[in-house]
Parts: sequence; structure tokens; C-alpha cells
Amino acid sequence: MQQKPIKGSNLDKPKEHCAVFGVTSDDITFSISKFLYTGLISLQHRGQESTGISILKTGGSIFTYKRKGLVSKVLSKEKLSRFWGNVGIGHNRYATTGSEEFYSSEYIQPYHFQNNEIEFSFAFNGTIANYINIRDNMEKKGHIFATNTDTEVMAQLFASLSLTNKKWKEILKEASNILDGSYSLVLLTSNGRIYAMRDPLGFKPLCIGELKTNKGNFYFIASESCAIDSVGAQFIRDIRPGEIIHLDYKKGIHSDLVIKSNKTAVCQFEFVYFARPDSVIDGVSVAQARFRMGQNLAKIDPKLKDPEFRKNAIVVPVPDSGRSASVGYANEANLPYIEGLMKNRYIWRTFIMPGQQKRKAAVKEKLNPIKSVVNGKDVILIDDSIVRGNTTKQIVRLIKNAGASSVNVRISCPPVINACYMGIDFPTTNELIAGRNLEKYGIKQYIEKIREIIGADSLLYQTIEGLEEAIGLKSELCKACLTGRYPLKSGDQLTSSKQASPIKRQ
Ligand code: SF4
Repeated sequence: MQQKPIKGSNLDKPKEHCAVFGVTSDDITFSISKFLYTGLISLQHRGQESTGISILKTGGSIFTYKRKGLVSKVLSKEKLSRFWGNVGIGHNRYATTGSEEFYSSEYIQPYHFQNNEIEFSFAFNGTIANYINIRDNMEKKGHIFATNTDTEVMAQLFASLSLTNKKWKEILKEASNILDGSYSLVLLTSNGRIYAMRDPLGFKPLCIGELKTNKGNFYFIASESCAIDSVGAQFIRDIRPGEIIHLDYKKGIHSDLVIKSNKTAVCQFEFVYFARPDSVIDGVSVAQARFRMGQNLAKIDPKLKDPEFRKNAIVVPVPDSGRSASVGYANEANLPYIEGLMKNRYIWRTFIMPGQQKRKAAVKEKLNPIKSVVNGKDVILIDDSIVRGNTTKQIVRLIKNAGASSVNVRISCPPVINACYMGIDFPTTNELIAGRNLEKYGIKQYIEKIREIIGADSLLYQTIEGLEEAIGLKSELCKACLTGRYPLKSGDQLTSSKQASPIKRQ
């Protein structure tokens, strides 16, 4: 997978693909467009390239509006006033593929499909790993594709399955048997119903909410529970892996657990970094999971046993990604937690930094150490992950230049050594600092090599056991980027086509 230029907002962090949101009102005179706006804006962290909505007034037809840009820009007040309907879905997108065509408007979701037989609009969060195989098979049968996306393949698959199956539940169930990948999906039908489906391994989160007011009853589908909170609704529950939910504007919620799988593969990175801390995924509070990651890191930190080190040590988070884990670490270590890096909040997608020099400048523009805090101190610097390592190296240097006696980097996620094929924009193993050095120096030496490269005085990563314990999910997690064990059926095929071979660990 090609890497896209790094955006100023998150520097060296993996990028989430997308967010989905859906809402129905049982009052057909009520317009839900404001709910779509509020839900999507609370999910902006999952995708900032483009936003789109499809909306329908029961009895009418689907209207779709989508553009590049942030939710607040695309769905301005003036624009929103033009969209009227009691049922709708929305999507925020982050495009991962490097090719320019992937920035084109035609790739923005929701994907509105219409032919002589069927009309629907859908949006999803994830990646279909076997979409090229599905497309090739369909092309042999005479299907013609206008784009090179998994989204179009899904749309055409749904349409072709609808020729023999008229019920949406059956169409989606059948499609689930063909699709191999991660997908949390919302689909709006032409008769004003919403279907939501989570893939059988449950990679990406998806949940349901409800709001009962004197203006009517509303049901919501969202990528994260923070969006349910933002519209003032009650969180009902997570959609289970393999489950199809049907929202009928009159009859409420129906559920069908269509595909029972013996295992799940919930993305561990949702808990480490992607999801908002105020979200709850599969019953686990993201903030609490991050807090425990920090605690577990402190429990295994040999430096904390040194009384001399402790006398002068402070815990400093990399804002904002290291904050929750830092609080957990400081709490467990019984050391002061201090904000020692100031983040410029106004650098938000204002520039693109394709080159290394520009990335360096970006770190300086984005983060400034607070000299009075770090000067003369042994800084324990906490972040959630290291991807390429360039940003961490810059931050270590900034803190040292500000007078710190030592900078000790602590990472709340284990080393990321492999690419992700389930919808997260990680670079290849060779670009990943941990992957490259593990291959080159082996398991015993690679952490020390990374420490040298980033210029830290010490470096400690979370263990896989510590991560699992911190998340505390009863169902199984996907940890493929950490272990090289890919849970998809086409996992091995994918890894051999995209990189030499995954590095396996454990
Ligand atoms: S490989 Fe890593 S980032 Fe990708 S789904 Fe699995 S845990 Fe998440």
C-alpha cells in the first residue's frame, strides 16, 4: 500500500480510514440533517479528507451530497438547510492509497447506486481485502466498473445479489460470505430503511443509540459511541461481529446475527490510538484502556526501581495521543504528571509535508517544549506508538535542547512491525522503524537500535500481554501489525503480494 503524504494534524501516526453515521426518525415531517452534522463532526478524528451524506424523506427519493473537506466546511448551515429528510446516513473519509485518483470526488462516500432494478446508498469503514478477485469474477460475467475501489465492488455485488434475492437482509448475508475484509457499514434503501452490518471478525466498531423525545423517536448507528452521546441519545449497545441491524423508521430496531464466527479480530489500535477516549467499544472504555496501558507500562519499567532517577523524574505526555496512558503511568509510578510540551492547536490540515525536511519543520511548528518544566529533569516521555520514528526523534531532541537531563521514551503499544491490510494506513515493514530494525538486528537488539536512532536515554515498549490485559476484551483482538498473524482468509495471499513476508512474532 502506498503511503500518502503526512498531514500536519497527526505527524507520524497511522491514519484511520473512515467513520459512518446513520439516523432514522419516526416522524416523517422531521428533518434529521442536523443530527447527521452533529454525529459526523464528533467522528471527524476518523477521517478528514471528505464528508458526505445521503438523505431521504419517507416516500421520496435518496439525495446524496458529498465533497472534499471537513464536516464544518462541507455541511455548512446554508447547505444543511437544503437537505430535508427523516432518514439518512453519513460518512467521513480518509483516503489511504497514494495514487492521485484516490483523492478524486468520485471516491467520496456514501456511494449512491442506481440502475433499473435497484437504488440504495451506503458507506463503510474498512477495507475489502479480496475486492480485486471479486471484481475479476464479476467482470468475467459482464459487469463493468467505473472506478478501482472496493466501494464500487461492494455496490455492484449488492446490486447483482439483489437480482435473485429481494430482501436486504439476505443480500447482505450473502455478500458477507463473499467479502473478506473489515467493514462496518450503513446502507440506506430507497424505501427509507437503514441496514447496518459489522463484519464477522468485528474489526471496526459500530454501535446503536436511541433518543425518545416529544418530537419523535430516533435511532442512530455510529462508528463510535461518542457520536451517540453528541446527539443526546442513549447508547443501546455495540453491533456484534457478523450482525445485521435493520432500522425501520416505524418499527424500531431488528437484529439478525447472520454470520456466527468462532473468533473475532477487534482492532487493538482502536483502543491504543484511533478511537476518542470518551468512546466505549465492545463494553470497554477507551480512556480506561489507555489508562491501564500506562499503568502496565510503569509496572514493567526497570528505571522506576532506581531511587536516584525517581527523585528527579517527571512524566510528560506527547499531546494528545500520549495523555491518557501518561496519567495511568504517573499514577502507578507515583511520579508527577506534567504537561511539558505545548501543542499548537491551530495547525490543522493547513499544509502537506511530502519531504523529510518539511516533516521536521512541522514537528517544531506543532510542538514546543516548556523549558521551565523540563529543564534539568529526567523526562519520562509517553506516547501511544512509534511508526517511522522521525517524529519521536524530533521530539526527543526538542526536549533535550530545552535542558532536560535525560529523555526516557515509553510507548503504550508494543512495537509496530507489519503493515495493516484491514483498513489502517501503516507504511510497509521497511518504513516502520521497529519492523526494519527487527529484520536487521533481530529480537534481542532491535529495541536498543531504535533507542539509538531516536536519541533517547532509554526506551521501553508495552508488552503484548500488557496490552491485552489493559484492553481486557473478552473477545479476541487483531494484533497483526504487532505479530504478523493476519486473521483474514486472504491474509497470507495479501502479505505475499504487498511485501516480502510479514515478520512473525510470539
Ligand atoms: S493490523 Fe493492526 S491496525 Fe490493522 S486491524 Fe489489525 S490491529 Fe488494527
